[in-house]
Amino acid sequence: MNHPALPPGMYDLDDAVQTILQSPPAGTPTALLESLAAAAERARLGLPAQVYLAAVEQAQMAISITDRDANVLYANPAFSRVTGYDLADVVGKNESMLSDRCTPKAVYRALWETIVRGEAWTGRLVNRRKDGSRYLAELVVAPVVDAAGTVRHYLGMHRDITEMHRLEQQTRNQKALIESVIDAAPLVMALLDEQGRVVLDNLSYKTLAADMGGREPAALFLEAVRERLGGEFERYRSRGRGFEDIEVHFDPGRGRAPRAFVCSGTWFRERDTSADAFFEARSRDYLLLAVKEITELKRRQEEARLHTLRTLTAEQERLQSVRETIGAAIYQLQMPFNLLVAASAMIERRAKSCSAEEARPIRAVLDLALRNGREALATLEASLPRPQYEALARVNLNQTLREALGLVTERLLANGVVVDWQPAPVLPPLLGRENALRGLLKQLLDNAIEALAEVPAQRREITITTAADNGWLRVVIEDRGPGIPDELRIKVFEPFFTTKHRSGHTGMGLVLVQEVVNDHAGTFELGSAAAGGCRVTLALPLHSDTVGHDHE
Ligand code: FAD
Repeated sequence: MNHPALPPGMYDLDDAVQTILQSPPAGTPTALLESLAAAAERARLGLPAQVYLAAVEQAQMAISITDRDANVLYANPAFSRVTGYDLADVVGKNESMLSDRCTPKAVYRALWETIVRGEAWTGRLVNRRKDGSRYLAELVVAPVVDAAGTVRHYLGMHRDITEMHRLEQQTRNQKALIESVIDAAPLVMALLDEQGRVVLDNLSYKTLAADMGGREPAALFLEAVRERLGGEFERYRSRGRGFEDIEVHFDPGRGRAPRAFVCSGTWFRERDTSADAFFEARSRDYLLLAVKEITELKRRQEEARLHTLRTLTAEQERLQSVRETIGAAIYQLQMPFNLLVAASAMIERRAKSCSAEEARPIRAVLDLALRNGREALATLEASLPRPQYEALARVNLNQTLREALGLVTERLLANGVVVDWQPAPVLPPLLGRENALRGLLKQLLDNAIEALAEVPAQRREITITTAADNGWLRVVIEDRGPGIPDELRIKVFEPFFTTKHRSGHTGMGLVLVQEVVNDHAGTFELGSAAAGGCRVTLALPLHSDTVGHDHE
């Protein structure tokens, strides 16, 4: 090292230390030599001891250095600012003077057990300032060891975290308050993240999830809402716009009552709290789902609706039976009438070979019969009741099926028929004619009940399943009756063909079913059920432009 020349009698400290370290005077304590070596090393690195002192003096944290019994040897100005004690007040006193005496003994025990092992301790305790006021201190106590690893001093660093703790507690209290309000709310509530995962839910939600046998209710609600809003859902979402009171039906099947809900959603944007987002603000979107169960209300509404439907169906059936009877009469009359037309043509031809006189009376009678016949047919055709006009509407096929089942409940009970109802939990709505579809489904159920009357009581079961796939709704109705023989599968669609020659059967049921299916651009198949009996598969397109146009 190069040093400027020193005046005689004065020595450069570094040189002096180097000289002592190179040839220590006899009897110099090892500890002193070690301290001098450490000081020399620090000096070599370029940081004089004063810098360390200045750093501690100017630190914003309360710093104190104690002996091994926690008696204060040094405290920095920040210590005075935090505690209110001047240096003179604390030097020589134990750190316990800061204790408010309400910190549990176990905390101090843990502190001392840690630091005497030579390890640092961090924790929170309640301190009291000189003026008697309390504050919450976050304290770090680090042992200062000598070269031999023996603890010589303790370094205490603490800061007042009263305000931070207050804010933390306030946040916790608010969270607890919100959670208890949400739990107590008579609403099913769930907070979903951007992937649709439930990040927070309430008691009602948990109960509903348990009732749904492991299916995630939020996923079902979201699916139904997306189905209902279509493309609007994503558009609303990008604008942070929620949705309100969307009705969702959930059908658990297996004999359990269907459930109805109204569902509302509110988007909520949370700022990312992670360190990565400190300088670059990021946010996450959450959806708060609030769902109210309206099953009981719906049940009452449906009871009233079923009552109306029964009247409506009875009237529809009465009209239908009038149409069928008149239709059958027209059909029956058409045959002899056609014979008359043929006979008249024959007589016309023969008239050329016999005298006009001879043919005249017979022709007159035939003309009269033809005229009367035409009039009778025209009168009958005019008296055919017109099919009732029905507008297109959004139809929930599960509900329409339930209504059709409601309409045949008495027949099911009277015939001891068991229904295995396996609906899709959520079905997208179909654009169709609700009454016609209900009539169609009732007709299929009536047919199945009729077929089951012919088999022993233990086989009287109807299985109904609904599903939605690839833009189609499918309804499968299977019975365990005698089934339809292969050779009759086409014939049963002919008007007035029936395998049931009992009163009340005109053989028009499947013809009408086919009419309604055609009107909805659907398909309808008759096959054999796995367990014997008849299997009817009805498929209706969800978004079809081909559904019969409204009658003007
Ligand atoms: P004490 O009798 O002081 O101690 C309680 C228990 O600690 C005893 O039962 C014993 O098991 C153990 N213990 C105490 N002294 C020793 C020791 N020398 N060696 C081994 N075990 C021991 N306390 C505060 O309340 N606020 C502070 O800000 C604070 N800062 C501290 C800073 C430093 C650097 C250190 C070393 C200690 C600090 N303490 C602080 C702890 C303080 O010294 C007291 O231990 C504490 O306040 C409890 O005081 P007391 O009189 O109730 O019991």
